[in-house]
Amino acid sequence: MNIIIMPKVGFCYGVERSITLTKEIENNNLPKPYYLLGMLVHNDIVNNELEKSGFILLNNPNEIDNINNGTFISTAHGLKQSIKDKINLKKLPIIDTTCPIVLNNNRKILEYYHKMYSIIYIGKHNHQESDVIKEYIHLVETIDDIEKLSITNENIVLTNQTTMSIYDIETITTAVLKKYPQTIIDTIICPATKERQDTLISELEKHHGLTDFWIVIGDKKSNNTNKLVEIVKNVTNNYYFISSKKEVKNIKISNDFNYYITSGTSTPNIVINEIIEELKKE
Ligand code: SF4
Repeated sequence: MNIIIMPKVGFCYGVERSITLTKEIENNNLPKPYYLLGMLVHNDIVNNELEKSGFILLNNPNEIDNINNGTFISTAHGLKQSIKDKINLKKLPIIDTTCPIVLNNNRKILEYYHKMYSIIYIGKHNHQESDVIKEYIHLVETIDDIEKLSITNENIVLTNQTTMSIYDIETITTAVLKKYPQTIIDTIICPATKERQDTLISELEKHHGLTDFWIVIGDKKSNNTNKLVEIVKNVTNNYYFISSKKEVKNIKISNDFNYYITSGTSTPNIVINEIIEELKKE
């Protein structure tokens, strides 16, 4: 079997930074216990490891009401101002591990909001990144969501969650411009996400024969991983979306096939390496 690993796999800069800031907390003499304000990154392996080493995962912000000591840690996808205010009132420390790319995008959105723009935002419903700025935006995930919009403001801007796919942005931009031609387009895909999508698209163009198989490694909750899967699905059905080495048994292995490997930005390298080792054993 021929295994080809895409040039960029494993953690992106934002995920790496968020995990490092979280693990460093113990060196900073901050009060225990340490509370995670949601999944630090969208990968169960990473989150379970943190929980095993004593971090406490809060699934509901209302849980903060009953906490009077300790340190809070934001996820890589952001922290809602109302939650920040609630913790600040308790005078408890917060470690903000939000990815700087997400922070910059959210700052830009707030600026548009204060300049009285209506903000159409391409993103996922119930994703932390879009949730953080929910009250300032019109969230659209599909073309159908655009049909439901009734904006009367002349000043409209279109932006997005940083890990959407090139295809989502192209399709939705076209539909928004058709309905609201005056819209300013200010979309962004984070460089780590874009680089993986671009490489994947270019490789898929070259290799999508019957013996070419694509393995996307990542957590089912990770938006950027799901976007990689969507890109592959657009071209071929020869793909597998797996999260751990346990799932390698579901892959049809043949020495005559090529296996192209890519991963989401929150997939640990250790998991990718384990999967490659398991593939080689089959
Ligand atoms: S995928 Fe991009 S936006 Fe998300 S954490 Fe990584 S670098 Fe930041």
